[in-house]
Amino acid sequence: MQGEGEQAILDIVEGRAQERVLRCRRLDNLDDLPMPAWDYFIHQPYNWGGDWFPGTPVFTMNTSRGCPFHCTFCSVGSIWGRKYNCFSAEHIVADTDYLMQHYGARGIYFREDNFTIHRERTE
Ligand code: SF4
Repeated sequence: MQGEGEQAILDIVEGRAQERVLRCRRLDNLDDLPMPAWDYFIHQPYNWGGDWFPGTPVFTMNTSRGCPFHCTFCSVGSIWGRKYNCFSAEHIVADTDYLMQHYGARGIYFREDNFTIHRERTE
């Protein structure tokens, strides 16, 4: 798959996907996406911890997508194109508060290619 997967997964599950490689359009505003269905996932037997962090549960967040740079060894551009987009800092803080209040989140694993590219947002 190339691009963002929110529409792709619907196309796959609902039987509309025809190609082996799905190419999805990039979203303009990630803040418009709904929150993951944590009420469902929290009861699944995933590893909610990490060897690198003492507490549980640890939630994974992917708060930015893509990269504007062109490092020749890197595959990020072939998946995402050159567009970089991200959730706003306010959105991330609100999601973090929600996970702490509803599920007792002890840690957040920011798993992405360019968490620090936008310094103001990161701070
Ligand atoms: S994600 Fe990192 S390695 Fe890949 S193109 Fe961007 S800056 Fe380079």
